[in-house]
Amino acid sequence: MRIESDLKLDFKDVLIRPKRSTLGSRKEVDIKREFKMKWSGRTYEGVPIIAANMDGVGTLSMARAFYKQGDMLTAALTKHYSVDQLVDFFTSDASENAWYSVGLSENDSDKLAEVLKHVPAEKINKLCIDVANGYSERFNNFVKKMRDTYPDKTIMAGNVVTGEMTEELMLCGADIVKVGIGPGSVCTTRKMTGVGYPQLSATIECADAAHGLSGLVCADGGCTVPGDIAKAFGAGADFVMLGGMLAGHDQCEGEITEGANGQKFCTFYGMSSDTAMERHSGGVAEYRASEGKTVRIKHRGDVNDETLQGILGGLRSTCTYVGARQLKELSKRTTFIMVGQQINNVFGES
Ligand code: 5GP
Repeated sequence: MRIESDLKLDFKDVLIRPKRSTLGSRKEVDIKREFKMKWSGRTYEGVPIIAANMDGVGTLSMARAFYKQGDMLTAALTKHYSVDQLVDFFTSDASENAWYSVGLSENDSDKLAEVLKHVPAEKINKLCIDVANGYSERFNNFVKKMRDTYPDKTIMAGNVVTGEMTEELMLCGADIVKVGIGPGSVCTTRKMTGVGYPQLSATIECADAAHGLSGLVCADGGCTVPGDIAKAFGAGADFVMLGGMLAGHDQCEGEITEGANGQKFCTFYGMSSDTAMERHSGGVAEYRASEGKTVRIKHRGDVNDETLQGILGGLRSTCTYVGARQLKELSKRTTFIMVGQQINNVFGES
């Protein structure tokens, strides 16, 4: 047994210090980014925010809403669409706003091959390969296999939380490594297993490792307010993935119920929750426990209305506070200050 005593931080433990700025208005801030991918060689241009591949979030409707919005946000689609639905979607103009999610099962790989028979290969150019625990050899081998099979597709793979595993996944062929174990809004991994890593520190450490190899990272999970997204970018994330913050909208493709006072609600659940396993795998397998929960959340209308406006406006505002004309400059201009409880911990106060 070993104890690491370095301080590890979460979003709530820090604030971003304002800096002298020549920016007059948030209108002057450009929150789009342009990346050249390490392995696929493709260029990505857009606001680097991704809807998580969760039921109610990574939906075809979400990708279509992002297409309509126009800033090139993207949605990682859930793995549960049929071949027909995927063919229909990936032949449409909104295809650029989506990541095709692949699991490790043979069924998933076969489904991708089948869909690719019916759509121009160019239309599916971004793959998201994710598992709860990206540390297994089987996962590494799968990422290598996908890189060999699809050399010109951008591959995002994860999840991991440490620098050495970020490097490993990059060397296996990932263009983008997805970072986060346990921070999700409907995730119970930390409670069920005791495993996890504070998300701000995970992002800082993995971004450092990836950037050293000309790779990129996507900070996945734990953002609850627009300021957390800004902190993730400030920490060095190239992309930020959102689940809970994008749940509960018209685009959820799920049931919307009405409460006594006319308030509308949706159900939102983790992809390892009982609800997800009942829905997609016919129940929780005997050997495993659920690592996600199910919550009822208020319905929030169209994602393109208040929600996206708040997120993008918040991010622009952060950039003006630190004098970053482009999102690209945000992490260079970020100084985090530790706040509240964290400082008490450091100085040994109660
Ligand atoms: P959020 O933005 O809601 O805080 O986090 C979204 C992320 O939580 C997802 O992208 C995914 O990585 C993670 N996640 C989704 N469902 C589950 C689950 O059931 N269990 C765990 N451990 N993580 C989940």
